[in-house]
Amino acid sequence: MSRLCPEDLTPLEPQTLHGLVLDTCPMCAGIYFDEGEIAALQAAGSEALTEVEDAVVPSDFSYIESPIPKRCPGCNGAMHAYRYRYSSEIRLDGCDRCGGIWVQDGELAKIADYVQSCPSTFGGTPAARQAAEVSNAQEKSAQRHAKLLKRVASIFG
Ligand SMILES: [Zn+2]
Ligand SMILES: [Zn+2]
Repeated sequence: MSRLCPEDLTPLEPQTLHGLVLDTCPMCAGIYFDEGEIAALQAAGSEALTEVEDAVVPSDFSYIESPIPKRCPGCNGAMHAYRYRYSSEIRLDGCDRCGGIWVQDGELAKIADYVQSCPSTFGGTPAARQAAEVSNAQEKSAQRHAKLLKRVASIFG
């Protein structure tokens, strides 16, 4: 069974990008990532994300997002919209059943920006990532501590 674009039901075309075989829509330039694939691309860095974004171009620029409920190209399950990393403005559609992720044209570039703005969160070994997060937390608590000292000093000074 061929995989269909959840937006416009165009059959997706496999494209090999950065060692990953991604299902891309020739109509709207959306990209379907199987579970784990988007994480692998993130680990490759922001240039890899931008490269994939640039490699997939929509053929129909007048395309408007359809109001039909999105169906997962991988397993035909229902997809739901969610925010990338919970707090960002990047909107993705995920499948609960198979863990696939649908990325609309342009969203990958935003993810690339996001990855670039906080490189310590991505790439490297899990241990290195953890170390970066710990030092980040320590820095924050040190800043809080310094602020508190300043406030105390201003009260008693
Ligand atoms: Zn499409
Ligand atoms: Zn699915």
